[in-house]
Amino acid sequence: MSVPKIIDLPALVEDLSPEDRAVADRLFDVAATTGRLDPPEAMRAWIEKSFGSVEAVLEQRIVRVTNRVTLQGTLFNGLRSSRPLDTGVSVDLEHEIEATTGDPFCRPEQETPADVFGRVRGEHAVTASNVAKYDGFHGVIVFDDHNPLHLTPEKVSDYVSVGLEWCRKVLETDPEARYPFLMWNCLWRAGGSIIHGHAQVTATRGTHYPKVERLRRAATSYRAEHGSDYFDDLCRTHDALGLAVPTASGVRAFASLSPIKEKELIVLGQSPEDENLRRTVGALLQGYIHSLGVRAFNVAFYMPPLAPTSEDWSGFPTVVHLVDRGSPANRTSDIGAMELYAAPVVASDPFRVAEALRAKPLRATQRTAQTITSTACSSSSPCSLTSERQVRKSRAWPRAASSKGRRSSSTPQPVART
Ligand SMILES: [Zn+2]
Repeated sequence: MSVPKIIDLPALVEDLSPEDRAVADRLFDVAATTGRLDPPEAMRAWIEKSFGSVEAVLEQRIVRVTNRVTLQGTLFNGLRSSRPLDTGVSVDLEHEIEATTGDPFCRPEQETPADVFGRVRGEHAVTASNVAKYDGFHGVIVFDDHNPLHLTPEKVSDYVSVGLEWCRKVLETDPEARYPFLMWNCLWRAGGSIIHGHAQVTATRGTHYPKVERLRRAATSYRAEHGSDYFDDLCRTHDALGLAVPTASGVRAFASLSPIKEKELIVLGQSPEDENLRRTVGALLQGYIHSLGVRAFNVAFYMPPLAPTSEDWSGFPTVVHLVDRGSPANRTSDIGAMELYAAPVVASDPFRVAEALRAKPLRATQRTAQTITSTACSSSSPCSLTSERQVRKSRAWPRAASSKGRRSSSTPQPVART
């Protein structure tokens, strides 16, 4: 069976069952248009070389998708999305990464500052305090691996786990710094100023960062208006259209219908403490690198606050965003005025992204649903990472359930070291 195309989205939505279509229609506005042009004779050879045929560019179908709830939208150009996905490995990039070994992150204890509460050490990473801070608390999760593309689900899970422990340390230091944010800018195309593998973590005060707060408000309004959970409906629509991608148990993920940029994936879990969620993110990043040829990417974790707040965070899951930022060899930025001020223009077809990630088995985790339940946060109260009981549990259970490649539970490995 052939893979559907994003340019056929209006018809694909029409073909949904009446129930699924009702949900899709209240979430998304989908419209198609056609762009036409008249090339001079002298351009024809170049067009044929670049796009296969002149006919391919004479009439270009463009699909515009708008999420009615969040007012995030995307313009898909069928011509651009029909180009083959580049999965070639850049040997030069490997050499370029290798050439920067010996940087300060290779010796973090000696060449990076610690936070006022010290450092957090995991099995594959250690924290540093960011020298030029985004916010009052801004840490760097410095990976043991210099090469950021040598990632595995186990390592990624550990990086995030170290970040969460850093957030708990921050909260002990400043009980007002309740709102955590974890991000990863991989390579310079994605905003990373240092090649050595690292993610970043911040904690802010007052309210959550505006984009996280905007999503919370949108989901709250949606529930009030429709009596239905926004995130459940979002997953339902993507699933019904065939955009779901493989995950570990208890985690949901899909190639977004309204991506912020190329190949965006959304991963939803109940809590960042859920190792299945963290490992799924790692497995999907592996799929990004090995199945889709992605090299530069951003990852962002939207997480509820670490302690009670005046806003209603009930039902807000952990929402992880993954996005491809284009080839490191390309000097043209992927972000222009359209992306900054209007709507992103995207070439990759989410149906092909989902298909590519489904083609190979996900090597995430074999954890059971029961394991997840034991660490899940109640949907009626925000995830409290500060509870000592939960802290102990989160430190203990991933190692007790240790899988290949992780240290055995008989040799306790404290996550924190101050
Ligand atoms: Zn290094």
